[in-house]
Amino acid sequence: MSGIGHYDGMTDRTYKTIMVGYVIIPLVAVVTAIVLLWNNVINSTDLFLLIVFQVLSVLGITVGFHRMLTHDGFKSSTPTRLFFTLCGCMALEGKPLAWIATHVKHHAHSDHEDDPHSPLEGFWHGHMGWVFSQENFEDPKVYCPHLLEDKVTMFAEKTYFFWPLLSFAICYAVGGWTGLLWGGLVRSFLTTHITWSVNSICHTFGSRGFETTDESRNNWLIGLLALGEGWHNNHHAFPRNAFHGMRWYQFDLSGIVIRNLERLGLAWDVQRIGKETQEAHKLKGLTMHQNIADLKAELGEFIDHARHELDLMILKLPPKKVAALRLAHEKTMKRYTDIQLSLARRRNMKRKAIEKRHEEVAKLLEIAKRRMKMVIP
Ligand SMILES: [Zn+2]
Ligand SMILES: [Zn+2]
Repeated sequence: MSGIGHYDGMTDRTYKTIMVGYVIIPLVAVVTAIVLLWNNVINSTDLFLLIVFQVLSVLGITVGFHRMLTHDGFKSSTPTRLFFTLCGCMALEGKPLAWIATHVKHHAHSDHEDDPHSPLEGFWHGHMGWVFSQENFEDPKVYCPHLLEDKVTMFAEKTYFFWPLLSFAICYAVGGWTGLLWGGLVRSFLTTHITWSVNSICHTFGSRGFETTDESRNNWLIGLLALGEGWHNNHHAFPRNAFHGMRWYQFDLSGIVIRNLERLGLAWDVQRIGKETQEAHKLKGLTMHQNIADLKAELGEFIDHARHELDLMILKLPPKKVAALRLAHEKTMKRYTDIQLSLARRRNMKRKAIEKRHEEVAKLLEIAKRRMKMVIP
């Protein structure tokens, strides 16, 4: 277990409150710094650079890397694809192929063991702890091989470092050192933390309009800050949908940009989800939720039964033999406890993941029984 997500004796509410402060306070501090330093270390040119490059780099991530390249939410001409992809490079969130491969893996394993950044492994891990381990960046050959043939993606990949450096150079040329500070560095801080908040906050806090096999949430604050990406439960329910905001009050600037690109003839094959599909998903979701709850309960009972059976068997063994088996027995029980904890922590699970755990419990039971039978005189 990594991260700082588990404290003995602390209530869920206290923990969540602390974690909201943990993520929001540095952001508030940056805003406060802007207000306090007005006309001192920051001027209107700096603020202009900060806003322009913040919007361009976030749109590069949301419209370019995410909705266009990763999920194929719309088609576009080469110049438009190039523009948004290169804006995404300016955000300094890694080369496009690594970003996309990691995100595809996130969708495939959301909030399960192989998710690169699930906050269930600790809020800090889900927010930014995961970026410190290279293992969490996935192999594009496995997760997005088609993009290795895509000229726009490969051009951005090969020239990656030029684009953030160009954005810093423009900030310096226009606004001097303070322009570089606000339009370059403060902007990078804001862009990365806002994107990471989609992984951490939007898998922890907010509402769930649709049943999904993960913990994804719709969060209005991240919806505003991340230009529409905060409607993350909608996104996990319908990953290819080019519009993450699906209600009139779910503000989605990236979706508005895509809609206007379409009006201008610069985007086509834009993926939309109609009302009927949404309703069908909701209905299917209710049945799925009940089935998953039943499977989880069944697995819980099976673990209790396995524990009971092994405890009974060990009681019947002569004390000398018990000593020899103690370590292996404790290891099996610990694994059972870990599986029970993971069941309790995950409200929404994939059927396959539950079945995999069921098989593991049965296999461990069989091995333990065989081991005990071997030492019975
Ligand atoms: Zn997610
Ligand atoms: Zn996605």
